[in-house]
Amino acid sequence: MRALVLDVEGTTTPISFVYEILFPYARKRLRNFVESNWDRLDDVIAAFQKQAADDLVADHPLRPVTGRESLIHNALAYVDQDLKVACLKTLQGLIWEEGYRDGSLKGEVFADVKPAFQRWSQAGLKLAIYSSGSVFAQRLLFGNSTEGDLTRYISDYFDTEVGAKRDAESYRRIAARLGLDRDLLLFATDVVAEAEAAHEAGLQVVVLRRSGNPDPGPHLFPEARDFTTPPFP
Ligand SMILES: [Mg+2]
Repeated sequence: MRALVLDVEGTTTPISFVYEILFPYARKRLRNFVESNWDRLDDVIAAFQKQAADDLVADHPLRPVTGRESLIHNALAYVDQDLKVACLKTLQGLIWEEGYRDGSLKGEVFADVKPAFQRWSQAGLKLAIYSSGSVFAQRLLFGNSTEGDLTRYISDYFDTEVGAKRDAESYRRIAARLGLDRDLLLFATDVVAEAEAAHEAGLQVVVLRRSGNPDPGPHLFPEARDFTTPPFP
């Protein structure tokens, strides 16, 4: 094995942090953030305008984005319907950035994460993250974690720009970007469908059974409760 590729939610980080802290944090501050930062949100505004032109949201018909109110209306419609559109992800990232900067947010990681990162780094293993959260949000979480700045241990970050997490092709691309043969990578996730996609691409896989994770269901892959036991180095 030469590198580890880690999922975030349910793997390095409690699922509850994402759903009970991170997303509610962004939703609660969305209106105020948009109102007070409007003048520096040109790219976000353009992205929301473009998004509003192409989709229909049930129950909350989207509005053409002409100002603060219509942007906030659409953003909340995306949030409430759990539509992970890029413009919303960008806006959430900016809101989280402010929270991490002022210390009101800390990226939660399990207690064994930092010791494992240190151990793998000392062993000369490459460490990459692959999450459906944006690379920007991943860097914020690990850069401002409950265990301090962990980004020094991480060489590469991947989000759904590289492809969907349940698509084997994404894992082939990740291996190519890391410049390593696929069978030299270990992919760790809590979701069996992601493990299957990585396995199909020829990666080694492990399914995490972290506390707070739902039962992963039946599968034939190695399992681990944390990073302290094999197959983790
Ligand atoms: Mg996960």
